[in-house]
Amino acid sequence: MARLGVKRRINAAGTLTRLGGALMDHAVLEAMREAARSSVDMAELQAAASREIASTTGAEAGLVTSGASAALALAAAACIAGLDTARMARLPDTRGMAAEILMHRTHRNAYDHALRAAGATLVDFGHNDRGLSAGIRGMEESDADAAVTSASVALAFVATPETVADLPVAVAAARRHGLKVIVDAAAQLPPASNLRAFITAGADLVVFSGGKAIGGPQESGILAGRADLIASALLQQLDMDVSPALWLPPSLIAPERVPAPPHHGIGRGFKVGKEEIVGLIVALENFAARDEVGYKADLRRRLNTISAALPKTTTRIVDGRVPSLEIEAPGALEVARRLLDGDPPIHVGERDLARGRLIVDLQAVRVEDDPLLIAALRRALA
Ligand SMILES: *Cc1c(COP(=O)(O)O)cnc(C)c1O
Repeated sequence: MARLGVKRRINAAGTLTRLGGALMDHAVLEAMREAARSSVDMAELQAAASREIASTTGAEAGLVTSGASAALALAAAACIAGLDTARMARLPDTRGMAAEILMHRTHRNAYDHALRAAGATLVDFGHNDRGLSAGIRGMEESDADAAVTSASVALAFVATPETVADLPVAVAAARRHGLKVIVDAAAQLPPASNLRAFITAGADLVVFSGGKAIGGPQESGILAGRADLIASALLQQLDMDVSPALWLPPSLIAPERVPAPPHHGIGRGFKVGKEEIVGLIVALENFAARDEVGYKADLRRRLNTISAALPKTTTRIVDGRVPSLEIEAPGALEVARRLLDGDPPIHVGERDLARGRLIVDLQAVRVEDDPLLIAALRRALA
């Protein structure tokens, strides 16, 4: 990157996409390097990935996508088109098709665009009483019932520690109306147990980001779920410049269910490379096998060292998904600006700047950069 005149940055803000996501370890890079020098049938490679994802998530099948956002678009496309290749060819034009996806109002967020990109129309239900402390009522089946129409195909649910208790309500409402449940769990790792939790809770499709905590390639993600839906998503993502007479559908489904190959689908524009598929799978295996307690203890030890080196500041280690360090700093915005102006520029968590707090998250900081980070923080806080 230096050759391109692009600055190296220290990212103490977490595995943010705009800063390049996770840092990959050498085992992942080695697998990607080998893949880069090989030719492969992409459908066969995705079938192998599907088996790996199925065994780590407990889902029937899985697909490597070019990110969680792409996985959401493919999830919507699968729920709308199923295995109907004529419908696949028409997306995102959904005129005359059932293409409504229900979402509780409190789940709406900027990644909704991915669902709409496939041609879905989002239909809100419920209120935001809890979010506003205007009342105590949260997600209720009757609110979902009232929003269902003959055009409903799915219910999209964004998993967070705050929303997850509502998942059984969402699943029950969806089941009663024959709708699929799509769970966006992009950033709900660790704990690794969440790889299985949402499938166990009844989700038909679950989305994870590969370039966040899993530590895979930045442009990777996972769609896991029911075999027929994953087969639909795969058909809409794979390159379809094939000879129809020689083509076989993905091994996930019986050949007679898709007698002829579809044309390039809505997902062809976010194809995933062989390197990403292989890298994601190695990263996923390593993530699932990682000693979570040891990993967190290591982060906590590094944060303690940073905290101890800071002059006259109030700090607090917060045990979130991974431990992070909150630094109370009058003029936090100015401190963050000074860190960005440094060499190398340093990014800290910006979420609580307005409340006078910097957040240090070490997930994407190399351990050998800790001294640089400490020195910069000391200067910026002085
Ligand atoms: C990060 C994130 C995404 C997008 O993930 P990518 O892998 O970057 O596409 C989607 N939804 C939520 C809730 C996220 O946090």
